[in-house]
Amino acid sequence: MSLLQATKNGIYCERAQVYIDPIGKVKRALVTHAHADHSRYGHQSYLAHHHSVPIMKHRLGDIQVEGIEYGEIIRINGVAFSFHPAGHIPGSAQIRVEHKGEVWVAAGDYKREEDGISAPFEVVPCHHFITESTFALPVYRWKPQAEVFDDIHHWWKKNAEAGKTSILTGYSLGKAQRLLKHLDHGFGPIYCHSAVDNINTMFREQSIVDIPQIPKVEGAEKKDDYRRAIVVAPPSVQNSSWLNKFKPYALGISSGWMALRGARRRRNADRGFILSDHADWDALNNTIKDTGAESIYVTHGYREIYARWLREQGYDAKPLEADYDGEAD
Ligand SMILES: [Zn+2]
Repeated sequence: MSLLQATKNGIYCERAQVYIDPIGKVKRALVTHAHADHSRYGHQSYLAHHHSVPIMKHRLGDIQVEGIEYGEIIRINGVAFSFHPAGHIPGSAQIRVEHKGEVWVAAGDYKREEDGISAPFEVVPCHHFITESTFALPVYRWKPQAEVFDDIHHWWKKNAEAGKTSILTGYSLGKAQRLLKHLDHGFGPIYCHSAVDNINTMFREQSIVDIPQIPKVEGAEKKDDYRRAIVVAPPSVQNSSWLNKFKPYALGISSGWMALRGARRRRNADRGFILSDHADWDALNNTIKDTGAESIYVTHGYREIYARWLREQGYDAKPLEADYDGEAD
């Protein structure tokens, strides 16, 4: 029997009777991060990085959840578990599982580029590595973040000159704070949607990330600076009537999916900025190499294709059925 295995409830460690990012109702859930497709309602108890705890409570209500620090080891029935930075969003972790010298790492969602708000990704050597494959095709290659923000600033300036408000969308948990961290606050007025403000406030109050105070856009429509402003909002505003009050506006989307042709047009956006909180093609391949793992399990959308490609590179690689569909907002 293998130390970790795929079950209908997700990745399971039978020896310790715990699940990683489970689906359905289980007794004990170890959670890599607070995005909705990894941190789900209905489990009896949860263990997550302590920065994920207030976010999970905010989203899931009155759950029984314990926090753990990066690198801290807990032992359950002889199995050692520890959480290590995944660089995906604040509080995100890879979960290392060790028993009798055999080491597994379930990486959850991860990225390698430092985003300025999350603890930077740490390579954790292991024998078995469970990787995501959200962007596991050569078409997904990210530019350095600084270059993407240059593009965003250029777009914002052009809109301001044309008297249009710039609306920029990104997931309210993680991406929005990354945007707010790197937008030039001297460049023009910045506002945020109330869903983004909720997360910002929590990050500040719980000392998770030092996010600058950004006024909410709700109620700011009468302010005279608002035509020159950029507004950070969740993807749910795309194609919604919420946008109407900003006319004339320009809509920009920040997402890894903007690398796909037609993705911007389908969402009625003026601009797509390729900015992702997931590893790109090169980062996935480099990470797998860096862990030293020989056996690789692949979750998420491109698992079949990517596992096949890894086998061609000489790895013992298999797709792993798990129902992760990305943060839905
Ligand atoms: Zn995620």
